[in-house]
Amino acid sequence: LKTPTFDNWQWEDAEIMVLLQVMYTDLDFISTFNIELDVMQQFLYEVYRRYNNIPFHNFKHCFCVTQMMYGLIWLTDLRSKMDSIDLLIMLTSAVCHDLDHTGYNNAYQINARTELALRYNDISPLENHHCAVAFEILEKTESNIFRNLSTEQFKRIREGIIKCILATDMTRHTEILNKFKALLPVFDFSNKDNRDVLMMIMIKVSDISNEARPMDVAEPWLDCLLQEFFNQSDMEKLEGLPVTPFMDRDKVTKPSSQTGFIRFVLFPLFIELANLFPCLELNSNDEEIHCVKNLKAKDTTGKTTVFRHLSVLRFWPILLPCLLSSNIQNTHLSVYFITRQTFASVDFSYHEYI
Ligand SMILES: [Zn+2]
Repeated sequence: LKTPTFDNWQWEDAEIMVLLQVMYTDLDFISTFNIELDVMQQFLYEVYRRYNNIPFHNFKHCFCVTQMMYGLIWLTDLRSKMDSIDLLIMLTSAVCHDLDHTGYNNAYQINARTELALRYNDISPLENHHCAVAFEILEKTESNIFRNLSTEQFKRIREGIIKCILATDMTRHTEILNKFKALLPVFDFSNKDNRDVLMMIMIKVSDISNEARPMDVAEPWLDCLLQEFFNQSDMEKLEGLPVTPFMDRDKVTKPSSQTGFIRFVLFPLFIELANLFPCLELNSNDEEIHCVKNLKAKDTTGKTTVFRHLSVLRFWPILLPCLLSSNIQNTHLSVYFITRQTFASVDFSYHEYI
């Protein structure tokens, strides 16, 4: 459960609820914050109920994001650097971050002038809504896992959860990443503003971490995502609204959707987190390996080139454009970018795509 190789597809929703409870128990939240078990379970059940049965932004996505957050907390040994309230904020934000997602993104909400866009004046309508639903659940005594905390503690948690969930609006990606980059050289765990930005980065990383999972876990998620995207663009066409280009079934393919995303969004973000936590990156003394292993690239002439042991995080942004420009037809590439702890593997089979 603590590693990113965890396969969510093996578990039913009822079991997933138990796994979420295990995370709260394992991080000592149950005892530290005096959370009654029936309240914990009622909270998780309400959360489960308020995720919609849609292709991507569903309860299983909530679980994956939370599980990645949980894994990151252990891997980076965050328990020795931040207090339990911060960790509780991070885990609970992950659990709640897409509550009642409708399957249509903010651009659609705004263009279609939906109820959410009206209510939140076009400002992160979805994220504001996810967060409001979270606190609706926490308003009910029987599902308020924070009910035994002091007013001050609750206030801090509420502020933290709001910050984290609102940070998952991808239109704020560059703003948040730049803030984090600026802090990195002088990052100070004892400084609250620094910690706040880190918490936002952590939930962002967790939110888009599917591609950092093993291929057989990650790929079905891509299908789910594209299905949700296509549903939206179909609806946009039907209603005569502007069609979001990366969701258009006539324009998007699996590789085109992945390569740009990994290159311009995922990697730049993951690299900065690894700058703060070198344990997430390679250890050059570690034989086990942490590199691009056995990259076999076959070009159109049938010539195969084998790259061995390229260190990954640093090389990837250079490597990918080369791969894409050289008409590679059959490439299986396994990237392990975290040493023994196997934090994550990025595993791409381009032969299916290109
Ligand atoms: Zn999400």
